[in-house]
Amino acid sequence: MQPLGGIGAVCREVDALLVVDAVATIGGTAVDTDAWLLDVVVGGTQKCLSIPSGMAPLTYNDRAERKLLARKRIERGLRISVEEDRAGQEAPIRSNYLDLGQLQDYWSPHRLNHHTEMTSMLYALREGVRIALSEGLEARFSRHRLHESALTAGLSAMGLELFGDPANKMPMVACVVVPEGVDGERVRGMLLHGFGIEIAGAFGPLKGKIWRIGTMGYSCRQTNVLHTLGALEATLLRCGFRLPAGEAVQAALGVYERSGFSC
Ligand SMILES: *Cc1c(COP(=O)(O)O)cnc(C)c1O
Repeated sequence: MQPLGGIGAVCREVDALLVVDAVATIGGTAVDTDAWLLDVVVGGTQKCLSIPSGMAPLTYNDRAERKLLARKRIERGLRISVEEDRAGQEAPIRSNYLDLGQLQDYWSPHRLNHHTEMTSMLYALREGVRIALSEGLEARFSRHRLHESALTAGLSAMGLELFGDPANKMPMVACVVVPEGVDGERVRGMLLHGFGIEIAGAFGPLKGKIWRIGTMGYSCRQTNVLHTLGALEATLLRCGFRLPAGEAVQAALGVYERSGFSC
């Protein structure tokens, strides 16, 4: 988890906006938007909120709003013509794509209706958020931490190494170093086709080097953690990786037992 405290104050000193990608975060762990002086936070629906994909809930403050409204050179709610765009050369060019200045006129007195809302998605968002709030945010966050502990205990018991600084590990994803001599893509394929479990690879400089195992939202549950550990162990043994058989699931069960989580 990117440590964000302190960055906001510096951004204010140098008049920069602090924009945070919280796609994998919201609904899984606390995002203290105001305390951390975050100007813009963009979330996702399909991860820890377990709502169908297709929307990006976001929040922004007046600093961000001032910036985005400065892009407009005509009255809010009116369409901007190409001529007007060219006339105001010093001003940043306003785009018609993801134009928040235009979008916020949906709920301003202008009641702009420029394109049709995906109403079924809004119903899905409402339902997902209702479920999250009825669980309770603190309970939801601690559920993510519990299943993270069970999963990581199991991974360590298998002799696997977690990737990244443990002090900043996010509860919702475990990054695992693909062991020497193991074909990470073959393991992912066997998990998917043999066990119906999909874990992610990585991209960029980490491509082929780590796996990413998500425990997010609805999928963050004991059955998934235990199945994944059992299936990963079987797959790794099949791929010739030597590990203490049976230890992973036992380690996870131990975590559940110690936390008083009933089977
Ligand atoms: C998944 C993820 C994304 C991509 O989100 P999409 O909605 O699939 O485009 C971006 N940022 C982070 C941190 C993510 O975890």
